[in-house]
Amino acid sequence: MNTGRGCVLVLDLEATCCDDGSMARAEMEIIEIGAVMVECVTLHTLDEFQAFIRPVRHPCLTDFCTRLTSIQQADVDAADGYPAVLEAFSAWIDRHHVVGWGSWGRYDLHQFEYDCGFHQVPWPFDFEHTNFKKVFTDRHPIKKRVGLGTALTMAGLGFDGTPHRGIDDARNIVRLLPFLLGDAVLPLPRF
Ligand code: AMP
Ligand code: MG
Repeated sequence: MNTGRGCVLVLDLEATCCDDGSMARAEMEIIEIGAVMVECVTLHTLDEFQAFIRPVRHPCLTDFCTRLTSIQQADVDAADGYPAVLEAFSAWIDRHHVVGWGSWGRYDLHQFEYDCGFHQVPWPFDFEHTNFKKVFTDRHPIKKRVGLGTALTMAGLGFDGTPHRGIDDARNIVRLLPFLLGDAVLPLPRF
């Protein structure tokens, strides 16, 4: 990622899901976009975008999904569909000088590909995706890739907010950016 002038878009998605095999991976749909716009040099937050999305293939959230994400059926019932939310999200992106976007792992990239394809919505990014989980592992003496919660613990940080909520996950990734794009060093020598 080019970290010169401009902003990095940190993104985390939540999607419909189940724990009993009743929903194929390709049928999962985004139900929340959480995104934070970060100034590249200072790594300060400039702006945020959060929206719930009403799914169409599995419109009723499973109990598992609600437990995992804390997103309620009423949240998605009251939300716009994917095309309208993507239009608002793309307009928000266009208001900033974005040089790259990233997420914790590649799941979010692939989920966006599924949903843009399914709804025939234009791809919102014209800049490169960075897998922050990979960068975190490559930059530190860590043997295998770790989840966001573990990475925060390694950095001596607790999780702020509710895990598996898109906007809170994105904000917590931002708290790790000094260890990814800046000079911060993990407080513990080995893992
Ligand atoms: P996350 O960003 O870790 O909250 O995960 C993004 C999405 O992946 C969630 O909204 C779920 O759709 C799916 N997901 C995460 N963890 C699980 C899990 N343990 N079982 C099934 N789906 C999951
Ligand atoms: Mg999440």
